[in-house]
Parts: sequence; C-alpha cells; structure tokens
Amino acid sequence: MKVNEIFYSLQGEGHFTGCPAIFVRLSGCNRACPFCDTDFAAFTEMSETEIIDSVSAFPAEIVVITGGEPAMQLTESLVNGLHNAGKRVHVETNGSLPIPSNPDWVTCSPKTPPYNIKRIDELKLLFTPGVDPEGIAASLPQAKSYALQPLAGEPIEPVIDYIKNHPRWRLSLQTHKLLNIR
Ligand code: SF4
Repeated sequence: MKVNEIFYSLQGEGHFTGCPAIFVRLSGCNRACPFCDTDFAAFTEMSETEIIDSVSAFPAEIVVITGGEPAMQLTESLVNGLHNAGKRVHVETNGSLPIPSNPDWVTCSPKTPPYNIKRIDELKLLFTPGVDPEGIAASLPQAKSYALQPLAGEPIEPVIDYIKNHPRWRLSLQTHKLLNIR
C-alpha cells in the first residue's frame, strides 16, 4: 500500500473536531482540484501489518484514513486489522469510489461528480458562492451529520446565514490551521 504519511494529531475539522486521532494519508488521488492544498504524491510502500504496527504506537482510538483519495487503495482487511488492534476507523473520501463496508465512520467531501458512494455518515462541503449545499446533498446518500466550511479567504457571513436558514448544517472550521498544528 502506498502511504504518504502517518502522524498523530487532533482532528481539526467536522464532526470529530478536537478528538485525538492518528492520520494515515494514502498516496494518490483520482481528482485534480485547483484548490487542493494536500501534497499526497510522495509515498513509502508499506504492508498492512506495517501500517497497523505504526498506528498502534499511538494511544488514540480513532484512525483517520485520508488522502489523496483513500478509496483507491483502502481494503476491508486493513480496516479489520485496525479493528483487531483496538482502533476505530474513520475514512475521508471525495465520494467518487466505493468504500469497503467496515469503517466506523465515513466523511464525504464531494468535489466533482460522478459520485459512487453508497454510505455517508458525515457530508462535509466547502461553501462555494452560488452553489446550494442542499442541492449537492440531494444527489448523495442521506448522512447523519452535515458540515459546511468556508473557503479560505472568503467571508464567513454567508456561511453563517446559510446554516441559520438550513439548521441541519453545522459550521466546520479548519481549527488545525487556526491553531497552527498538523
Ligand atoms: S479530491 Fe481532495 S485530495 Fe484529491 S485533488 Fe481534490 S482536494 Fe486534493
């Protein structure tokens, strides 16, 4: 499996903001978003056992599998192995590819269609002027939690107004950037 990095920090965004989590960033993505600020190209080849051993060195329960697009590589057996190591597995995906059935939480941040995802626990969108988040939500499976993030450098007031008028949404800030942590 091509692994870009494994690191220990706090979840900075969305439903589990503030929770300690071990991040496994898998290399590669099937999209090329112009605003992408993630360097996911470099990688080290690691077996699933090596990934599980690395993750097990940290005390937190939550493991966040992210990318790039983790669904390009994620396997049911890696998720099972992490469960056997006592971890809870969260996945962050762009929704373009199927996800194994066994993660504990799936956060979808859709970028560009087509989407090919059957289960979403958290839908997390960047608030883009002129694009109705409810319109995007209607094209995807029902989620349990809905998060809206302002675009970097854009005013936050329209996001707050939108949430006040569509109260199933919550504000999500990139708190790790505000706090200058990973
Ligand atoms: S889907 Fe995410 S990781 Fe991939 S290019 Fe777009 S923003 Fe970057």
